[in-house]
Amino acid sequence: MYIVMITSECAPVAKVGGLGDVVQGLSRELATRGNAVEIILPKYDCMRYDRIWNLHETHSDLWVPYHEHYIHCDVYFGFVDGLKCFFIEPHSSECFFNRGTFYGHGDDPERFAFFCRAALEFMLKANKHPEVIHCHDWQTALVPVLLFDVYKELGMTHPRVCFTLHNLKHQGVTGEHTLRQVGLNPAHYMTQERLQDNFNHRAINLMKGGIVYSNFVTTVSPRYAEEIKHSDLGYGLQHTLHVHGVKFGGVLNGVDYNVWNPEIDRYIACQYTIETLDDKYENKEALRDRLWLNKDFKPMVAVISRLDHQKGVGLIRHGISYALANGCQFVLLGSSTDPATNNDFLGLKHDLNENPDCHLEIAYDEELAHLIYAGADIIVVPSAFEPCGLTQMIAMKYGTVPIVRGVGGLANTVFDADYASKPYHERNGYVFNEFDNEGLESALIRAIGLWHEYPRFFRELMVNGMRSDYSWNHPGGHYLNIYHYIRD
Ligand code: ADP
Repeated sequence: MYIVMITSECAPVAKVGGLGDVVQGLSRELATRGNAVEIILPKYDCMRYDRIWNLHETHSDLWVPYHEHYIHCDVYFGFVDGLKCFFIEPHSSECFFNRGTFYGHGDDPERFAFFCRAALEFMLKANKHPEVIHCHDWQTALVPVLLFDVYKELGMTHPRVCFTLHNLKHQGVTGEHTLRQVGLNPAHYMTQERLQDNFNHRAINLMKGGIVYSNFVTTVSPRYAEEIKHSDLGYGLQHTLHVHGVKFGGVLNGVDYNVWNPEIDRYIACQYTIETLDDKYENKEALRDRLWLNKDFKPMVAVISRLDHQKGVGLIRHGISYALANGCQFVLLGSSTDPATNNDFLGLKHDLNENPDCHLEIAYDEELAHLIYAGADIIVVPSAFEPCGLTQMIAMKYGTVPIVRGVGGLANTVFDADYASKPYHERNGYVFNEFDNEGLESALIRAIGLWHEYPRFFRELMVNGMRSDYSWNHPGGHYLNIYHYIRD
């Protein structure tokens, strides 16, 4: 099957969070199964150009409609970990993708609306007629709208669209001008059945447009699919998801075991398998060396996360002091787009500077993340909500036991050592439900207790996690079924 991904992120070149991992991992799985996969991205100035192989210009004559005129774009092609990627570079005074960061600009809706139009214009001019276009989140939600109302007329009758919702908190709510900018008449779309926002009737909602116009809509875990239909976690789109319920479902994300795998990971100090699990300890020592931590007989608790309300920043903060007070070491790798949150954690880092059992790294550091997954004993994911969550699944592959709040994809992947309804060999971590300090403490203290008192059982949890298959194998098959279904 011929599949084109249109996306704002793809790891490792343009990654802010899980979306980047998902596009990379799913694309690779689909390609490995013999499908033709291409990825279209903006050509950001802040990409990891060192991770693109053979980047070169392929199209220099792309003129993309924008308001009453056209913006000239160049298109580049290169391989990212063997995946075929096209990068669109617009030349205009707006400098859409030359801003030094991927997101966080006042005109994000306009920037990515332009990208949607440019991606389709490129496909039309380059004569690309995939069977399926797969779009991700609000940034590329205008693709199905433009495809069915503009590009179909121009001859693109073939492609069907699958649209994946990675996080309902960000929907791309914007003004009518964003539609006008890409050549769509707002009057036609300003209705409740189409793109009008469900709260603010004077605004348009790009994500809603993606839901309405796509042939199939997925989200990234079965639990989150239920949560966004039936609770406030739908952030106003519950009704829209109900109306389109027959073409909506949850598919659990996978983890790319070519990237996240202690057997082959070149960023860790010592590779290991279930059979050589004792070698994991070398990584704990290497992590302690790197972060100047004491080498005592203590469990190492870690957090790797965006520092955002969604991720439970308050609980993360509490977890640090609670773990340290209960004889653990603690490592945090995290950063925020909000300067106040970063400063808050930098202050905490300053306060804990002399503590030989704690290191807070307020940064984004892909390589260090690998060593932490390998070196830690326990990872904490205390999210307020979590569409899927990759860190708990990655951690399990490295034999690091997850402690999670039982929401979204966390509830679909982590099964409590003491209370899960699963057989013992499928239990792989600790789960708490209440979003408060006591909830987190109740799970953390059980994990710490097991580590000290019953190391053999703790090791069983580690092995159970390493044995679980959270690769792209199953989800890849699910997505292919969806693609076949909408194509036929
Ligand atoms: P989200 O997409 O909501 O941020 P996920 O759990 O789906 O959360 O994905 C997070 C991804 O980003 C994981 O691959 C994780 O390792 C990575 N990550 C998060 N914070 C950092 C950081 N500060 N440095 C390096 N990698 C990070």
